[in-house]
Amino acid sequence: MRWPTHAVTNQVPPLQDYNLFVADPALREALLRGGAAWAQDGLAQQGQELGTASCFEQGRLANRFGPELQAFDARGFRRDQIAFHPAWHALMADIARRGLHTGPWAQPRPGAHVARAAGFILQTQIEAGTMCPTTMTYGAIPALSRDPLLARDWLPTLLRADYDPSDQPFAHKRGGLIGMGMTEKQGGSDLRTNTTQAVRDGADGWRLTGHKWFFSAPQCDAHLVLAQAPLGLSCFFVPRWAPDGSKNPVLIQRLKDKLGNRSNASAEVEFQGAWGHLLGEEGRGIPTILEMGTYTRLDCVLGTTGLMRQALSQAVHHARHRQAFGAALIDQPLMRNVLADMALEVEAAIALAMRLAQAFDAQHDEAQLLLRRLLTPAGKFRICKRGAELAAEAMEVLGGNGYVEDDVQARIYREMPVNSIWEGSGNVMCLDVLRALGKNPRTTDALMAELAPAQGRNPHFDAHVRHLSTALRNPDDVQSRARALTHDLVLAVQAALLLQHAPASIAQAFCASRLGGQWGGGFGTLPQTTDFDTLLGRALQTNGLNSECGT
Ligand SMILES: Cc1cc2nc3c(=O)[nH]c(=O)nc-3n(C[C@H](O)[C@H](O)[C@H](O)COP(=O)(O)OP(=O)(O)OC[C@H]3O[C@@H](n4cnc5c(N)ncnc54)[C@H](O)[C@@H]3O)c2cc1C
Repeated sequence: MRWPTHAVTNQVPPLQDYNLFVADPALREALLRGGAAWAQDGLAQQGQELGTASCFEQGRLANRFGPELQAFDARGFRRDQIAFHPAWHALMADIARRGLHTGPWAQPRPGAHVARAAGFILQTQIEAGTMCPTTMTYGAIPALSRDPLLARDWLPTLLRADYDPSDQPFAHKRGGLIGMGMTEKQGGSDLRTNTTQAVRDGADGWRLTGHKWFFSAPQCDAHLVLAQAPLGLSCFFVPRWAPDGSKNPVLIQRLKDKLGNRSNASAEVEFQGAWGHLLGEEGRGIPTILEMGTYTRLDCVLGTTGLMRQALSQAVHHARHRQAFGAALIDQPLMRNVLADMALEVEAAIALAMRLAQAFDAQHDEAQLLLRRLLTPAGKFRICKRGAELAAEAMEVLGGNGYVEDDVQARIYREMPVNSIWEGSGNVMCLDVLRALGKNPRTTDALMAELAPAQGRNPHFDAHVRHLSTALRNPDDVQSRARALTHDLVLAVQAALLLQHAPASIAQAFCASRLGGQWGGGFGTLPQTTDFDTLLGRALQTNGLNSECGT
């Protein structure tokens, strides 16, 4: 005889079988504004595929069963290979098929970077670790394109929508991936301290000796690596296989045991006379590799926006289903305030991220280039910081379940901080904002021109812009004020975008809370005048999925 202990009730069905693109009006609208209407059908298809239970499961598996280093074979010969769960490979194959690694370079057209940005925001919601080699490959292409040898031998394969994980000379491969190696033990921000040495080896090659303390996706077909050459720090293209057909001696010493980003392999490596090809000018390594960094920093903004979006979706879905004290959480006033405040943050993040991507489409417009130069580090700082706060709050909406492994929310929480740290951490981004402002006086003009169309629409916004304009002209203690300045700058751009393009009540809520001093800073302190229904109505439009109840 069975003695039942309890029936399972009031547990929330998983959020699945929904279309991530269709459910997201803010993203759909931003796509149209960015001139990429042509990409709607493909993104709707991607959103449908990503929303399936099997795709969510791939994301879970790739992280639960992370990469393993196979440094040696059974007989002690070096292999330097990484074994991944099949889910990783399936996700990577989909990423390449969708062109998220090199699509805008393979098929340039108006709105190409905007369309990719929307695809990136969707993809990262399912699994974020795979986006690391994806973004590094995307960022490397402009520098590789300018090198005649690499453009001839590497680009055609890199631009293919194919994923090929095999470890063999590049000439035999169907597709490829590129990584980057800058950080050494003694310093990642201050790259001038790099000690890896490069010496000439024949007419075309160099030999690198040294180490890198962080070297993500070591399975990539090549990495852009910084090393000291006679004329100074230089950038080298270091392939996994040397031109003579031998395995290049880039020895993988260890994989990092990371807080999050567990599906992705981040290695420590040593170069024992590894073959390299000089990329760009000798002695100009930092500008060469930082061009790649501009694109990967954009992707930090996009990736965090995607994670925020998914964290919000999970929270809203949970609150629609979970009952407490006799009512669905979504109907309880304090929870509505928390969810609406998160939804507002996500609206603003999507608006900024997609606007930034639009600036990457305007490769020949000076004002857009200046704006992109300024808003990339600024956006990376602000969005990535807010992402971690939002992830914690979104996890709490699920109560104890949110804190348990295997739930999407716990994984997002562990993933969030990395986008703030790598590719230049918070302070470094704010100092870079100062550099962008100082380098070209027209940068401030481009910023003010961006804000101008929204002026006169909200008194808090107008006051904020006046304050910002004064702060930008104040040279005192500027480094110490760099975070405050960057924070204010991003809020101004987000407010301007929402005032022009979002439903009026959303824009007013943003200005009243973020700019108007009627906000506690933590989520759930929106003023009572807020239009909670509109914010929650746009937060997750799943149209009856899983018998949705509530708003
Ligand atoms: C999961 C993961 C994967 C990574 N993968 C790669 C990779 O593939 N390739 C690669 O090259 N690197 C990689 N990194 C390294 C990453 O880019 C660096 O960790 C990062 O740039 C910071 O460098 P650091 O760790 O040496 O810290 P430091 O440079 O020592 O910085 C420490 C702190 O000081 C702050 N700081 C620095 N300078 C100043 C200043 N002048 N004023 C005020 N504050 C300052 C920084 O913002 C930071 O908060 C990875 C890191 C992680 C976590």
